[in-house]
Amino acid sequence: MIPDFKGHHFVEEFKPGEPPAWHHCERCGVKAMLRPDGSTFFNVGQRGIFHKPEDRIPLNALPVPPCNVVRPA
Ligand SMILES: [Zn+2]
Repeated sequence: MIPDFKGHHFVEEFKPGEPPAWHHCERCGVKAMLRPDGSTFFNVGQRGIFHKPEDRIPLNALPVPPCNVVRPA
C-alpha cells in the first residue's frame, strides 16, 4: 500500500494481486501505481514520478504536489 503523505490518502482500485495495482487519492484523484519491482509511480506532471524504496527518499520529499482535496474535472 502507499502511505499517506502531503495530505494524500491512496486507496487501491483493483483487487489485490491484480497487476498493475493502480491506486488513487480519494481526496484529489491523483493516480499512483505500485510496480512489481517495489517502486511506486505517481502519475503527476508530464512524465510522472518514480519512487524507489532503495533510494530512501521520503515520500514528502518527492516533487508530488500536495493534496488539494479537490477532484479534477
Ligand atoms: Zn490527494
